[in-house]
Parts: sequence; C-alpha cells; structure tokens
Amino acid sequence: MCEFLKKTFKIQDITIEAERKRVRNIRLYVSPKDLQAHLTFPFYASEKHALEFVNSKMEWLKKTLEKMKANPSVLQKLREISKEEIEELKKIISNLLPEWEFRLGVQAKRWKLRKMKSQWGSCKTKTGEITFSTGLIRKPLRCIEYVVAHELAHLLVANHSAKFYAVIAKHFPYWKEIRKELNK
Ligand SMILES: [Zn+2]
Repeated sequence: MCEFLKKTFKIQDITIEAERKRVRNIRLYVSPKDLQAHLTFPFYASEKHALEFVNSKMEWLKKTLEKMKANPSVLQKLREISKEEIEELKKIISNLLPEWEFRLGVQAKRWKLRKMKSQWGSCKTKTGEITFSTGLIRKPLRCIEYVVAHELAHLLVANHSAKFYAVIAKHFPYWKEIRKELNK
C-alpha cells in the first residue's frame, strides 16, 4: 500500500514536492515554472527509498537550484504579469478578434482576460463567451493569434475532433509547431 500520494519534504532547507505517479523510475527535477524541486516516483517505491534517492542527489539539486535562480529568463517567467502587459494584451486581442471573427464567420458574445493555470484560453460555446489567459503576453504574436483563432473556431466545432482541427489546419498549416511553442 502507498504511504502517501503527495507530500512536501524539507531537506537541508530545500523544499521538495514529492508525488507518486504512474512512472517507472524515480525522477528529481527543478521546475522553471515555480523554481521548486519536484520528485516523482512509482506507487510501489517506499518513502525511505525515495528519500535515499534525494539524499544522494543533494549536491546536484543545490547547484541546479542556484543556477536556475540566476537565470534571467527563468526569473522573467516567474515575474507577475504587470498591468501594462495586460493592457498590451487587451489591445492585441481586440485587434485580432474582429479579423478572425470575419475569417471564420463567427462572433464572440464577450471575451475577457484571466489568469489561467493550465490553459491558454477557453470558449463557452453555449454563451459565446471566450476567456484568454493573461500569460499569453509572454508568448510570440503568432501564438496569441493561434489561440484567438482556436477559441473562435470552437464556435464552429465545440470539441477537439478531426473536424475542428481541419478548420484549424486550413488557417494554420503549422499549428502543431505553434502548439509546441505554447506549451514550452
Ligand atoms: Zn480548444
């Protein structure tokens, strides 16, 4: 039986977020998203074994954390999105929306910006309401444009079916590249 699924450890003043997952091996890494140490390990591994693994990697972990904390691009990502950035994004989307509404032959009822954790946008097809993530301002323009078109395209096809991606591919032949860039 598992002793726990998620647990926070503190070793030599370093916080480690541990989580059991459907994985084969123990993995310790520092996420650039939160500058935290994360440990994932299989369901069958014991807590003792996981901790031994972390202990054997402490030197590496300290060095990696230090290196990342000194990396400007990592720090930039962690910085809160400013009011100016939000205003800029509002302008960009306000310009893109009418163009894409015209191209796709749809119309959004309302749209807004919101801090979103795991999505770049969402579309309530019943009400025609679209939400965009404020995080888009840190992405290249072509990514913002893709998300605008993607959410609007849901007014044509609600799900992510082949039919939906046929609409997307018509306008963005390289949409997979763009998606990769968005999820980077
Ligand atoms: Zn979608």
